[in-house]
Amino acid sequence: MTFQDLKITEPILKALEAQGYTHPTPIQQKAIPILLRKRDLLGCAQTGTGKTAAFSVPILHHLHHDQQRSPKRRKIKALIVTPTRELAIQIADNFTAYSRFIDIKNTVIFGGVKQGNQVQTLRQGVDVLIATPGRLLDLLGQGIITFRDIEYFVLDEADRMLDMGFIHDIRKIIARLPEERQSLFFSATMPPDIVSLSRKILGNPEKVVVKPEQTTAEKVQQSIYFVEKKGKIKLLTHLLQTEPIKSVLVFSRTKHGANKIVKMLDRASIQASAIHGNKSQTARQKALNSFKSGELKVLVATDIAARGIDVDELSHVINYDLPNVPETYVHRIGRTGRAGASGKALSFCDTEERAYLRDIQKTINQKIPVVTDHPFTDEGLEPIKEDRPFRQKQSSRPRTTVAEGGSASATNQKPRRPYWKKRRSN
Ligand code: AMP
Repeated sequence: MTFQDLKITEPILKALEAQGYTHPTPIQQKAIPILLRKRDLLGCAQTGTGKTAAFSVPILHHLHHDQQRSPKRRKIKALIVTPTRELAIQIADNFTAYSRFIDIKNTVIFGGVKQGNQVQTLRQGVDVLIATPGRLLDLLGQGIITFRDIEYFVLDEADRMLDMGFIHDIRKIIARLPEERQSLFFSATMPPDIVSLSRKILGNPEKVVVKPEQTTAEKVQQSIYFVEKKGKIKLLTHLLQTEPIKSVLVFSRTKHGANKIVKMLDRASIQASAIHGNKSQTARQKALNSFKSGELKVLVATDIAARGIDVDELSHVINYDLPNVPETYVHRIGRTGRAGASGKALSFCDTEERAYLRDIQKTINQKIPVVTDHPFTDEGLEPIKEDRPFRQKQSSRPRTTVAEGGSASATNQKPRRPYWKKRRSN
């Protein structure tokens, strides 16, 4: 199937061609015809599947046609709400690219920066507004924008919105939208609270599911490195020095951890930058730009900051820490192996993370191959010092054994209170 087969208007086809897209991705093949028929859509798909084009192309198609039929003053006719600034910017970039040969304008608004420039652009008139929830409600409250003319509404990454605590903001937003509209709802996962939220937004939707297995788990070459916590930085340094890595996104569970990784890599003369919520928007954008341009090889990120990082040529993802939510693992590895390209996802797993690994393998329905021939397996990790061999060995390698797939809590078990110290009941 080609984009021509989808009956998209000519100037948009030309723009897609200019982007180098030849064939629609599965989500595009399924969603575009539904959206061109102006039906509501419930899309179960994650970033990396081509979902941005799947919704932006039909919206632009409709807006262009309406404009051709009866040119009017610019008003906000399409609203896309997304959880993070990075994702918002990325969606706006997509809209700009696909509307290159038509006269449809978009802009993006997000918090964390002064509103002046955003307000100025809005006053000049836009057709498509891409926004994060907080700033959107703020400008709505100030009367700077109105929802009166909205005909197309997209809620993107709904599961992440809920994770980030945006549910009240979303409720307020949907309460203000005009009844007559086409609504689109995207989420990588569909737990019950997401399904119930989707029912409040959509009217008799068509459902499109692109399974993560189809899009990432199968294409991305995954591997596991069993390593103790202390050996992770050495292993990372070793891999960065020996593996043919072009560009890598390293995932850290915490912001503090991300900073520490960058510091340790710097000591090994490996240039890296961290992006997370504590960094200013300018610092994040700067790191992201030099990563995208290929100048910076290693970017260390937390999950929230990494959402929406759109880098086509990402050769590797390294899970420095394994996530405790299996879907997050699928999201992370989906950063590589995009739109047909192959990629590698290397995951470090320490004793306490074995239970996470079991859940991940269950979710992706796959056993991830283990790399055993690396120098930082628990045997090779801590050379035993001559003077206090036993204490060293015991402290660095806890004796508690947790079988693969066993419970991580086993490592944290407290010794039982001796019976003679039993607490007295009151
Ligand atoms: P998304 O899931 O929207 O974040 O898209 C993932 C990546 O795939 C982005 O870099 C897009 O530019 C790219 N992309 C989207 N659709 C296509 C296509 N049909 N052919 C090639 N690349 C695409």
